[in-house]
Amino acid sequence: MKAAVFHRPGNIQVDTVDDPRIEDQRDIILKVTSTAICGSDLHILSGAVPQAANLVMGHEFMGIVEETGMGVSKLKKGDRVVVPFPIACGECFFCRHASPVNCENSNPEKYGPGGNMMDEKGGGLFGYTDLYGGYAGGQAEYVRVPYADVGPRVVPDNMTDEQVLFLTDIFPTGWAAIDWAQMKGGEVVAIFGSGPVGLMAQKAAWLNGASRVFAIDPLQYRLNKAKLVNNVETINPHDTDPVEAIRAATGGRGADICVDAVGFEPERSFMDKVKATVNFEKGSMEVIENCFKAVRRNGKVSIVGVYGSPYDNFPVHRMFDKGISIFQGQAPVHNYIDQLISLVTEGKVILDDIISHTLPLTEAPQAYHIFDKKEDDCVKVVLKP
Ligand code: NAD
Ligand code: ZN
Ligand code: ZN
Repeated sequence: MKAAVFHRPGNIQVDTVDDPRIEDQRDIILKVTSTAICGSDLHILSGAVPQAANLVMGHEFMGIVEETGMGVSKLKKGDRVVVPFPIACGECFFCRHASPVNCENSNPEKYGPGGNMMDEKGGGLFGYTDLYGGYAGGQAEYVRVPYADVGPRVVPDNMTDEQVLFLTDIFPTGWAAIDWAQMKGGEVVAIFGSGPVGLMAQKAAWLNGASRVFAIDPLQYRLNKAKLVNNVETINPHDTDPVEAIRAATGGRGADICVDAVGFEPERSFMDKVKATVNFEKGSMEVIENCFKAVRRNGKVSIVGVYGSPYDNFPVHRMFDKGISIFQGQAPVHNYIDQLISLVTEGKVILDDIISHTLPLTEAPQAYHIFDKKEDDCVKVVLKP
């Protein structure tokens, strides 16, 4: 079959690889009908999330069940499903405690309590390096889905792929950022990053009763998109200091909730890159610092952007003095997906309005390039195998 394969940093190619097979009776083989490129894939492409061996990429995918293992009871050949990006067994301590991303069984080689940079990681993820189980991903014609009775959800026939594809990752991720903050209604929410995850967090903020939603991003075309599809207030840090702007808009107090939907590879100055190299830090925690500054006292900060290394001078002083609560991690997609499918099917939220490019899987290298370099006003790419 054809698949988008990571070879080395900066190099993803479309290769012919072996078709996946049922390896465990709880597996299914899915014929992929649509798959997307995630901002998280860019961390692998850049080399910041390391991967040595070739790997089929992709953790946002959906398709038609092609084959089922003997132990699968909830799905049959021909079912059309979306698949959460974390791989969870459904039975271990963490799966029973509503924490599928910490599954104790899906990442046997690298799992552990430590959360180090190179080992003691959480549960397995599709197409997300050997650190997360080494599973082949879904940017391919076919993909093996383990624990198929636990993750995949059948989607209604009358919905297009595009309408439901983002239930696999970015909508539940944006939703998690907001849900963790347990809004009561009327809050001011400031969302740093207006890429796919930030756009989904904006939708979630409105659905949870925000009174004002701010989008912060240095890319004007992405702010324009946010304004168009989510009717948010926009701040471009190249024009206006976002911390000052958010404080000014809230009587000097700060936002009730700040979301980091950027992660450790923000747009950065040369000096910031030098400092990171000297400190053996990967990327920058600049966006976390801005969230801590822009949030009000006793406010909440949700971090869904990815971080992978320790940082010197972490602003714990600001966190303590202001009494900030922080929430972070991989999104527990399994916990939210049924509720979010209902929101989509009932027409309470539209997800496919963020798609800027739909391309054949054979053009994956070019698709990665434009998404990574933010060319051609790229916001979100869907690939068709
Ligand atoms: P993306 O790269 O398309 O979007 C990031 C956006 O942040 C870009 O629009 C960029 O211009 C903007 N940005 C850069 N520097 C900034 C700054 N200083 N202030 C404000 N905005 C800035 O990626 P995405 O797909 O939207 O993903 C965003 C992050 O979320 C990534 O780190 C990704 O790995 C992570 N992610 C996490 C989860 C999870 O489960 N926690 C799931 C999906 C994605
Ligand atoms: Zn993702
Ligand atoms: Zn488990």
